Amino acid sequence: MAAIIDGKTISLQIKDELKQKAAEMKKQGINVTLAVIQVGDNPASCVYVRNKKKGCEYIGIGSLSYELPEETTQQELLDLIQELNGRKDVNGILVQLPLPSHIDEDTVIRAIDPKKDVDGFHPQSVGALCIGQPGFVSCTPAGIIQLLKRSGIEIAGKECVVLGRSNIVGKPMSLLLLRENATVTIAHSRTKELKEVTSRADILIVAIGKPKMITRDYVKPGAVVIDVGINRDADNKLCGDVDFEDVEPICSAITPVPGGVGPMTIAMLLNNCIESVNLQ
Ligand code: NDP
Repeated sequence: MAAIIDGKTISLQIKDELKQKAAEMKKQGINVTLAVIQVGDNPASCVYVRNKKKGCEYIGIGSLSYELPEETTQQELLDLIQELNGRKDVNGILVQLPLPSHIDEDTVIRAIDPKKDVDGFHPQSVGALCIGQPGFVSCTPAGIIQLLKRSGIEIAGKECVVLGRSNIVGKPMSLLLLRENATVTIAHSRTKELKEVTSRADILIVAIGKPKMITRDYVKPGAVVIDVGINRDADNKLCGDVDFEDVEPICSAITPVPGGVGPMTIAMLLNNCIESVNLQ
């Protein structure tokens, strides 16, 4: 039986720590505020934005909400970002992705002041991570490092395989594991002998967006398995990229979906908001 890595409990611990920090900062007259921008009304984005605002409320920091209509032009969005970049009372700026197809995400991400880039997506934030300088780290991979550390799982010297190479999960994940002194392999859709590669992992991190693709034949017995995927299965039930029922009996620890990596993403966003004060 594997240990179940409980992201709900760990994220709550982190949020309670942040709540204390926010209260101490308030006493010193420092008020932290996150600005959240959503364009259009994609149902999943609405849920994420609502949860982010709830998270701010929970830890006691301010949030400003900009719900813009689907037909907002790229220039209007860039103008708003420019205004928020200049505001001293705004510490973090988050633009909820995906954006409508007439808006170029890269241009928008680059427009955010790197000192307010709490999502950690700006090229300057990514570059800083790459060369080990201070900056914001993408929330989901940062949350996974916390999940591992707070579950007592050692990373240094371990064989880690990251399956998926996206800019927001796979790539920053592998850089963070490297920073923790793991030996890191990145695998993707063009990797040959994928099962052989993933079966080398002491810690396997899966971020591919393929419902339940990873069965026990991809996993070394005793490995730690972190499932980043958020998908719907054939019955429309939420599921990960890992076939939990099949893999859980042979691994040493595993994250469930939901309740594993998901809750950590918001906790780390809130952490970035608190940390933003040090960068500004
Ligand atoms: P992307 O679609 O951007 O990237 C998927 C990656 O997986 C690509 O690198 C792709 O390879 C690789 N891949 C796809 N299919 C296969 C395959 N059959 N074999 C091997 N590699 C494959 O996804 P994201 O990184 O944005 O997200 C991944 C999953 O994580 C999704 O389910 C998403 O919903 C979830 N997610 C969850 C978050 C959370 O808070 N828990 C946050 C962010 C994402 P290639 O590059 O060669 O195309």
